Amino acid sequence: MRIGIASLSHESNTFVSFTTGLSEFQILRGPEIVEHYRATFHEVGGFVAGADEYGYEIVPLFSADATPSGTVRAEAYTALVDELLDTIRAALPLDGLLLGLHGAMVAEGFPHADGETTRRVRGLVGPDFPLFVTHDYHGNVPPQLVEDASALIIYKTCPHIDQRERGLQAAELLTRVLRGGAQPIAGIAKPELVYNIAFHNTSGGPMKRVMDAAIELERQPGILAASVAAGYQYADVPWMGPSIVVVADGEPALAQREAQRLADLMWSTRADLLPRIPRAAEAVALAMTSEESPVSLFELGDNIGGGSAGDATIILEELLRQEASDWVVALYDPEAAAVCAAAGIGAEATLPVGGKVDDQHGPTLTVTGRVRALHDGRFIETERRHGGKREWDQGLTAVLATGGGLLLLDSLRTPPMSLNQLRSAGILPEQQRIFVAKGAVAPRAAYEPVSARIIEVDTAGATSISRPPRAYRRARQGLYEWSHQAR
Ligand SMILES: [Zn+2]
Repeated sequence: MRIGIASLSHESNTFVSFTTGLSEFQILRGPEIVEHYRATFHEVGGFVAGADEYGYEIVPLFSADATPSGTVRAEAYTALVDELLDTIRAALPLDGLLLGLHGAMVAEGFPHADGETTRRVRGLVGPDFPLFVTHDYHGNVPPQLVEDASALIIYKTCPHIDQRERGLQAAELLTRVLRGGAQPIAGIAKPELVYNIAFHNTSGGPMKRVMDAAIELERQPGILAASVAAGYQYADVPWMGPSIVVVADGEPALAQREAQRLADLMWSTRADLLPRIPRAAEAVALAMTSEESPVSLFELGDNIGGGSAGDATIILEELLRQEASDWVVALYDPEAAAVCAAAGIGAEATLPVGGKVDDQHGPTLTVTGRVRALHDGRFIETERRHGGKREWDQGLTAVLATGGGLLLLDSLRTPPMSLNQLRSAGILPEQQRIFVAKGAVAPRAAYEPVSARIIEVDTAGATSISRPPRAYRRARQGLYEWSHQAR
């Protein structure tokens, strides 16, 4: 069995002030894909591992991935999809294809770019070809994609720590189909909700009830896969919101009925989905008076893994104003990192930091401090963390000791998925009292083990959880939360 493996992944935030170009994608071709992903916890690592597990030959084709950010520019999307299609065409005949797509890619002209990609791949390979697609839990799934894919498999955890297993699940299902053991047919249901990211944790709260039901359903005879996508509220697109996708064995009515049953279960949790979360002043005060430490403050409005700027100063400003101590804040600020590098280790510097990317993320603050460390920004994460990524690069990085805390200034937007982001720059997490992590749920995999307490903070920004419904133009109107909160 010759199985093609490919991925094209981007989470596109339509509310940020910048777009995403081709140069921001890390593109891998052929054997590079196997080399890069083999040892990771990413779904492509699962596609690779499936070769030994299920006895197929891997044909590595194409992979492209970029840090979440703004809408993908038209020419970038065209170039990426054209290369994907050209590579598949050149590799034919194949027995099947494992295709990792994020599910929340927005390209200029294609609000559901992953749906468009799947449509084009299906057009190339023909109607009966086994085309198995995986998605991030934050996908906004259009019904058309579920028709075009032979099966869609979605991560079951947030933070995403089961990506490799989902890659393996897709691989297993594909090989069963090829060996004549299954006939996948999918149903999709979309509850009319905004499933706010504040409730995306799959280990507790309302989502756990829904996910547990999906896991239970997947064990039932006749069901090949049962997935729940929470959706991605930072893409203003027609099918924004949660999705239930059930794949049954040859029984379309069963797939649709079970998808609807889980959608009804999700709908029944709606009263628990209205966020009540402290703002920065209150959250910082809570952290400072907490008897247990360290406390991690999750800055929801500047969720870098959700495409935000990474240089918000809203919580930092409060830490300075309330004279907190032993805190760590990481800011994306290449200019400030360069100023510190020029000053050198041990030097005192006064410089403007943060709030530079746009005007949504708090003011630029002027701080004075001592340059404590400089680093090239590369680090490795070997543990199972959100996103499954192993090799990281946050660019030139400086640590400035200022105002009772430590400011890590990096040069590439880096979501807080690994504590090695701090350790590599000489910051020992065990010795801190307050962390600020710019994320919603994803940083939990890294920060929960070292935090006595996590406090989510409702801040302004490109990933604000309190965006008013009038800010949406293309999403379906009347979704629950919007219809039940006066704003
Ligand atoms: Zn995600």
